[in-house]
Amino acid sequence: MKYNILVNKENPIDKNFKVNNLVSVGKNYSGENDCYTDEDILLEEEAALALKEMLDAANKVDSNITVIPDSGYRSYEYQVRVLNYYIEKEGEEKARHRVAIPGTSEHHTGLAIDVAIFDNGKYLDDVTGNEGPIKFLHENCYKYGFILRYPKGKEDITGVMNEPWHFRYVGKDLAEEIMLNNLTLEEWHERNKNLDTGKNL
Ligand SMILES: [Zn+2]
Repeated sequence: MKYNILVNKENPIDKNFKVNNLVSVGKNYSGENDCYTDEDILLEEEAALALKEMLDAANKVDSNITVIPDSGYRSYEYQVRVLNYYIEKEGEEKARHRVAIPGTSEHHTGLAIDVAIFDNGKYLDDVTGNEGPIKFLHENCYKYGFILRYPKGKEDITGVMNEPWHFRYVGKDLAEEIMLNNLTLEEWHERNKNLDTGKNL
């Protein structure tokens, strides 16, 4: 597994990309029905171990707020199904706005995780980043090998709005380099490409 893999609109993932070692990090919670479902949230094995360690630490920050995994691996076929569902429901144009084009979501890699919280028992998946444990994640995620993938102020570079709930596993060394230098994965790849070709930065 290449933990520095870049997936975005310009760099879609191969349709046949497979993640072999997916493991469960918990059950999916349905906000609509206010209960856990039978559906497992899956992540690549190394990322899953790191996530557990990171959330254990975050959940010591505030006894009223619990951080939980909310969405992990999504297969290419799954994304196609979601897109087709909305095309049928709302028409092609609206659907393509709402749903990520299959291949362009880094959730395909098994290395991306969205988190949600229980705030005094109330499920909330639209975290703002101001919650204590989420702030902890933003400041400390690199120590566990994760980066905040779509930070505020970098929307023009990532092409994605600020997502305070979305973390991406890249491994500890790369995560530290990216977070402590206030970079995005796009910028890191761009710099690295320049280094590779010997161009000045
Ligand atoms: Zn996400």
